[in-house]
Amino acid sequence: MRIGVFGGTFDPLHNGHLMIALEVRHRLALDRLLLVVANDPWQKAETDVTLASVRFALVSDAVAEINARIGETALEASDLEIRRGGLTYSADTLAQLRDADPAAELFLLVGSDAAAGLPSWKRTDEIRRLATTVVVDRGGREGGRPPADWEHMVVEVPAMEVSSTDIRQRVREGAPVEALIPPTVSSGIGRLGLYRPTP
Ligand code: ATP
Repeated sequence: MRIGVFGGTFDPLHNGHLMIALEVRHRLALDRLLLVVANDPWQKAETDVTLASVRFALVSDAVAEINARIGETALEASDLEIRRGGLTYSADTLAQLRDADPAAELFLLVGSDAAAGLPSWKRTDEIRRLATTVVVDRGGREGGRPPADWEHMVVEVPAMEVSSTDIRQRVREGAPVEALIPPTVSSGIGRLGLYRPTP
């Protein structure tokens, strides 16, 4: 079993995330691709992050919709880190997945913007032992890389210029987001009144 682990804050999930997940799953012939929603991302702890259960619900709905469209379980939403609680460390998540399925081969997906920062992650030895690092490059542009001695693969995905920061700002300003996020995320943001300035 080859399992891809794509962790993120997903505040909110956008089409760039889905593109990466589907493309890497395809290119590396993964059996499972988990979108692991961070409970309390320590790298973002100083900013206001939407409630984890809300971010997870939006990821779950989007994954269900895309799987229905594709006609198979292409992606899975994982609340592993939320159920564990506390600050989110990838080493804990990988160890938990390995314990659940000791024969599985794990692949940790990391955006190239985050790759150079890998040495600052907690318990890097464990991360490197438990999973193959997959650096995701945005089409035609060579991004950041882990340090030279950090074994990794690189997968290039088509560039999609969208970020969660960008989506939150667009919602705040009333700019259109419908072509940048899945329909279920868009309706969830509207229903829950996310990212709007509090009156
Ligand atoms: P924010 O803007 O709030 O920092 P984000 O859009 O980067 O959020 P995260 O949930 O923090 O979303 O990202 C999860 C992973 O997805 C990270 O490794 C990030 O590098 C990667 N990523 C996000 N957007 C893109 C994109 N458009 N193309 C390629 N990688 C992306």
